[in-house]
Amino acid sequence: MAGESNGSAENVIKIPKIKFTKLFINGEFVDSVSGKTFETIDPRTGEVIARVAQGDKEDVELAVKAAREAFDHGRWPRMPGSERGRIMMKLADLIDENIEELAALDTIDAGKLFSMGKAMDIPGVSGLLRYFAGAADKIHGQTLKMANEYQAYTLLEPIGVVGHITPWNFPSTIFFLKVAPALTAGCTMIVKPAEQTPLSALYYAHLAKLAGIPDGVLNVVTGFGHTAGAAISSHMDVDKISFTGSTEVGRLIMQAAATSNLKAVSLELGGKSPLVIFDDADVDTAVHLALLGILYNKGEICVAGSRVYVQEGIYDEFVKKVAERAKTWTVGDPFDPQILQGPQVDKTQFDKILSYIEHGKKEGATLLTGGKRHGEKGYYIEPTIFTDAKEGMKIVDEEIFGPVMSLMKFKTVEEAIERANNTRYGLAAGIVTKDLNLANRVSRSIRAGTIWINCYFAFDPDCPFGGYKMSGFGRDLGFQGLHKYLQVKSVVTPLHNSPWL
Ligand code: NAD
Repeated sequence: MAGESNGSAENVIKIPKIKFTKLFINGEFVDSVSGKTFETIDPRTGEVIARVAQGDKEDVELAVKAAREAFDHGRWPRMPGSERGRIMMKLADLIDENIEELAALDTIDAGKLFSMGKAMDIPGVSGLLRYFAGAADKIHGQTLKMANEYQAYTLLEPIGVVGHITPWNFPSTIFFLKVAPALTAGCTMIVKPAEQTPLSALYYAHLAKLAGIPDGVLNVVTGFGHTAGAAISSHMDVDKISFTGSTEVGRLIMQAAATSNLKAVSLELGGKSPLVIFDDADVDTAVHLALLGILYNKGEICVAGSRVYVQEGIYDEFVKKVAERAKTWTVGDPFDPQILQGPQVDKTQFDKILSYIEHGKKEGATLLTGGKRHGEKGYYIEPTIFTDAKEGMKIVDEEIFGPVMSLMKFKTVEEAIERANNTRYGLAAGIVTKDLNLANRVSRSIRAGTIWINCYFAFDPDCPFGGYKMSGFGRDLGFQGLHKYLQVKSVVTPLHNSPWL
């Protein structure tokens, strides 16, 4: 597979050679202690792309030791912020020089659209690095006038050794959502990428070394969650876990932190986001946003607008138009620039989505479009829309993480708010209406970390992102995204020589 060209795409794209398959510990690519490897699979075909080192507890031990030494004795936390920022800028430049190769790695590993990777994901991560690099010399505390004969100042210090555990749906973006602010803060770290998508993380480790990030600061341990991931989250010498993934695993991470060293934890978890479309909306715009909201990245996105509530006045027109448009949605090889939807990440995810579709049918929802696999090879699923869906059905209550929309009708604003909030999740929501006063009112009533009004998936490095309720806690991006890698120290000093006299 590696090194072949993909003849099916209109523009023939070179599939990259896989250069990095070993663990990256203390600035070196090394085999796992056990010598074991695991397969990473191309979801377009189900074929093996490469075998990657299978890190376990012993490898985590080595990586944590390297990160600890780099933190306690290394230059990174004590390096002037401007210098840390300069190195991060250099890393961003190196990423820009390798955009096509990095985008292609995420396409073969995760089934992501190559065009999106090239235009959005990879330039997005170099942008993220530059945003946080610019903050590296602007981290300062406060001076406090105390009420008695003292004054104090606060120091913002890096939290220490961080374990980043990431999912497979945005391998590049989520890697840097975590790594960029942690580097800015002066932390050292171990990243465990998802076992489904280890390839770009190892490439970034190589670029980090080229950029001048000192050995031990950024370590990448590829491997499985219950072994390598669990070893990181229960390690006594890891000061913080920054986790993105499922709510179920988030719970395990908190348990591991609680029963080890009470390390700090931040969790970016699952979602079941509502998109609420009011009667006055332009129906074509609403259809576009609804399809984008569920089909972007083949529905494998934590903020997917999987519950679509449409007000009764435009419901029938919306149903007709969304069905017509969904049928023209192109599914196929993610290297082909004409394609809008690639394969699901792997067979497990593919089977899980198809089983949710079966549940939807059994529970009485009506299939408007799709509902089955697309093609005969690879893990492609048709864009699927259910009508007659309602709360209490698995397809409405549970996160599917695939191209499956549940469409529901509502009458009043109050009903829309009540039903939008009828979920254990609270990651995001969308509102479509021409009435901005209404949109702003409804925004205040929906319990979610991000509300998009007349848009969807609008992200920016400066705009904090994270969940309410069981979608987690802590924020990525923005100053909040940086501050979770810092801790505050108060230094108190008397105003007189003998304050106790
Ligand atoms: P997952 O929870 O199965 O795995 C995420 C990571 O955790 C992987 O690296 C995995 O190896 C690791 N892991 C698994 N078991 C572990 C354990 N016992 N201890 C430590 N680590 C362990 O999630 P996934 O299937 O990779 O990703 C899909 C989920 O991620 C969805 O629920 C989605 O909503 C969520 N997600 C959330 C966000 C967000 O920002 N809120 C973004 C992307 C994905």
